[in-house]
Amino acid sequence: MHKSLIRLGLVGVGKIAQDQHIPAIRGNPRFELVATASPHGSIEGIPAHADLAAMLAAPGGDAIDAVCLCTPPGVRAGLARMAIAAGRHVMLEKPPAASLSQVEALSRAARTAQISLMATWHSRETAAADAARAWLTGRQIAAVRIVWREDIRQWHPGQDWLLAAGGFGVFDPAINAFSLLTHILDGTLEVVAADLAVPANRVAPMEAKVTMLHDGQAPVTCDLSIAHPGTPQWDITIDTDAGTLRLSEGGHRLSIDDQPQTTDADGEYARLYARFAAMIDGGASEVDHRPLMLVADAMMVGHTRALPPFEF
Ligand code: NAP
Repeated sequence: MHKSLIRLGLVGVGKIAQDQHIPAIRGNPRFELVATASPHGSIEGIPAHADLAAMLAAPGGDAIDAVCLCTPPGVRAGLARMAIAAGRHVMLEKPPAASLSQVEALSRAARTAQISLMATWHSRETAAADAARAWLTGRQIAAVRIVWREDIRQWHPGQDWLLAAGGFGVFDPAINAFSLLTHILDGTLEVVAADLAVPANRVAPMEAKVTMLHDGQAPVTCDLSIAHPGTPQWDITIDTDAGTLRLSEGGHRLSIDDQPQTTDADGEYARLYARFAAMIDGGASEVDHRPLMLVADAMMVGHTRALPPFEF
């Protein structure tokens, strides 16, 4: 059966749009990038607009089938609502919105409008994550340790929004670990305690220690930082009744009892766009709010303490 071309508008032309989305869109023949909307950013050769409303209202705007929102999370829900109301399919970068209630409202709006809504979690789209999930299935979980530490100056240079309200701070990267954890483990995860360290001149935490329970029993400890100079650490270690599994390098490498496992080549964003096309074809949506719920709970139960002021 011939599958129709999906004409896509890209909203928010910043780091992740340039690094990942544009190559993935250009690598998938089901998509044609027809317009962008961003206050300053643009892509050579593609009609550029200052915002989503202008993009949809411009000549040719009514031919846009779908939009992908790559903005900071604080403005994402409002933009998604506008796109859904205009009948466009919507792909959301992670996190899907700045709050859980916004995610719930967007899911409902998408159902009513009968469009496809995809909340992406790019870290889940690796071959190592697939293999980890398969290996863990049916095993008894004894303990989980997450270490997710990186340098904001290297990975998010100048992104003041990340340390503002709704910017998630350390949870902007750490939600990737939570997206992996909720994907590879069956069973429940409950946040029981959190320690949040916030620079005196900012709002969002730069460091956090979070404790959870898996299935009400196994301890899950999380050591999270964006004030970690040098080599980043993006590791999840899971002790089970049959050995210890480690997902490292942000979900790209898998080892069992320190033995590296061979996995297929990765293609995180290529996989996301292939699934978005399949969802549009099948009239489906996919919105998993669990990683965001863990962040929200950490913020809810956490003690806050002050760090010295931070400037980039
Ligand atoms: P970024 O470099 O700051 O880019 C965000 C862009 O959104 C900015 O360039 C800004 O445009 C644009 N923007 C802001 N408000 C807008 C609005 N109302 N309408 C249209 N465009 C708007 O941030 P980023 O690193 O790409 O991160 C964006 C999202 O992707 C975040 O949710 C982040 O968690 C996620 N993400 C980032 C990475 C990463 O490695 N950086 C990886 C995976 C996911 P102008 O520059 O034109 O003003």
